[in-house]
Amino acid sequence: MRDLAALPKAHLHLHFTGSMRLETLVELASTTRTRLPASLLDGDPLRVPADRRGWFRFQRAYDTARALVRSEETMRRLVLEAALDDASEGSRRLELQVDPTSYAPYVGGITPALEIILDAAAQASVLSGVEVAIIVAASRMRHPLDARTLARLAVRYAGQGPGEVVGFGLSNDERAGDTASWGPAFDIARRGGLALMPHGGELLGPRHVREVVSALGPTRLGHGVRASEDPALLDQIVAAGISLEVCPASNVSLGVYRQAGDVPLAALLEHGAQVALGADDPLLFASRLTDQYEIARSLGCDDRALADLARGSIRASLASPASKRAWLAQVEDWLA
Ligand SMILES: [Zn+2]
Repeated sequence: MRDLAALPKAHLHLHFTGSMRLETLVELASTTRTRLPASLLDGDPLRVPADRRGWFRFQRAYDTARALVRSEETMRRLVLEAALDDASEGSRRLELQVDPTSYAPYVGGITPALEIILDAAAQASVLSGVEVAIIVAASRMRHPLDARTLARLAVRYAGQGPGEVVGFGLSNDERAGDTASWGPAFDIARRGGLALMPHGGELLGPRHVREVVSALGPTRLGHGVRASEDPALLDQIVAAGISLEVCPASNVSLGVYRQAGDVPLAALLEHGAQVALGADDPLLFASRLTDQYEIARSLGCDDRALADLARGSIRASLASPASKRAWLAQVEDWLA
């Protein structure tokens, strides 16, 4: 059994606030005298019974953490720590999702908020050796017109490399809003050359996934695991070349599946789906990137299959062809 932290991989589903180290959260809370909910501190989200996991408990914890990010210094720290943690887990490329709207009030608007993140991502790439690119993610909890504003902003910083915006996403509660109403924002992002990676297919099933696919035209789906419930839909997704950002710990923590063994990873792979494992919100799920590969190993993936998953993550990333070639060769070295 080879060391999974040494397996070269790309990390394509990680949220800015959710990437925070627990020690950092505790430190920020103590300097602002904020009381943290016990669920954030106990370090074991799965101790909660399956029927009490659910979205709203998650959302409360997330909001508590986000409310502590109130300065440029903290924003820069989070990006750097996310990159350093990824580096220690064999990640070569981190595509970090952020909605700059949440931090705009503390730094003078959404434009400076995004510029701080991008500058921090460029610096973190140098310091960690991990390419850190940014996905600007609109929120389903805000008005679709806000998403258009964000898409226009994201397009101004579009690129492929570290410290640039590579994609546009749509995050937060899948059940909120009418998916088609975000179509115009995704059109702006697409015309501006950005890849598209909305969330879909975690909390809701095939019908909703179909809506996301047809209305938003994703390059990758954030999650997409529930597409496994409809083989014809999964075929359509595979045929369209849409990769799936699968986050097993998130699925179990949110109560989508009772236990890791129920995550339909094998079904997705057997169908030919290109999968990139992601940690989503390690702060809240107490499970980081390498842990997702450990879960895959516990589901029966041998080292060859785990290397295939790593290759899938690299191929599904938006890194340059030269970077991808180099990392794929490193996966071969890991297997040798
Ligand atoms: Zn997510």
